[in-house]
Amino acid sequence: MLITINDKLASIADALRATATTALLNGERPKSLLTVSNQKTLKSLKKGYRTFIMHFAPAMLSGSNVCPHASPGCIGGCLNTAGHGGMIKNDATLPARDRAVVQYARILRTQFFTMYTGEFMDSLTKEITRGIKSAERAGLIPTFRLNGTSDIKWENVRPNNSPVVNAASIFEAFPGIQFYDYTKIPGRQSLPPNYHLTYSRAETTSDATVKEQIENGRNVAAVFSATLGLPETWLGYPVLNGDVSDLRFLDAPNSIVGLTAKGSAKRDTSGFTLYVDTDGIAQ
Ligand code: SF4
Repeated sequence: MLITINDKLASIADALRATATTALLNGERPKSLLTVSNQKTLKSLKKGYRTFIMHFAPAMLSGSNVCPHASPGCIGGCLNTAGHGGMIKNDATLPARDRAVVQYARILRTQFFTMYTGEFMDSLTKEITRGIKSAERAGLIPTFRLNGTSDIKWENVRPNNSPVVNAASIFEAFPGIQFYDYTKIPGRQSLPPNYHLTYSRAETTSDATVKEQIENGRNVAAVFSATLGLPETWLGYPVLNGDVSDLRFLDAPNSIVGLTAKGSAKRDTSGFTLYVDTDGIAQ
């Protein structure tokens, strides 16, 4: 039987969660909340942006649900286990946190947010401030994606000690800075002007919902088979190649954002990954 990365992660998830909780209670804190070192953000550099992404442990992996509208298909195909996130050592004699260093860091970060939200927001504010300075020193435009592998309504989380007194959200705290995310949470229409969202389709999303989102001014990201490639149109809307850049706030409106399946999404049979021809017809 094929043992997948998700199986391996599930086998040590309890140990990772317990270790992270104990570490936080003993004063350990994440080394960093934001990262710039992945392929998507590196593509942003070519367009003059530096993207900072925050990766949590998605869905219930940390013990708290940070993806309230996740579907079985998106959990199975989540990018959490793509790239470095998929590196899990087989050596069962090692402590869980040493076997899955990236997954431990994501669980620690997520639990830090849920257990010590105020302190977390202070750390996030400081890192964003540093990130802005470092990007600007390099002649780049800083941009931030806080839900790299989560779906939290950040517009509802108040920072304590932001540079802007009484800021209602991290977006208000940094009004000149562009933030963006994908979301599976419907609604979320009254957003701060510097927070851009792309709706993220799952196998549980109806075609009517896709159309409704686009008609309401929000593009929809959909995952397509890497083998068949992206269609030119889907459900009557043009499909743009979302893999070329992750800067979703630059996308043309009224579009489907086509992403090719990666990691375990390549083997998805739930309907999360779409198998369609170049005209968007199901195969
Ligand atoms: S909602 Fe997004 S981040 Fe959460 S499990 Fe699904 S794909 Fe992953």
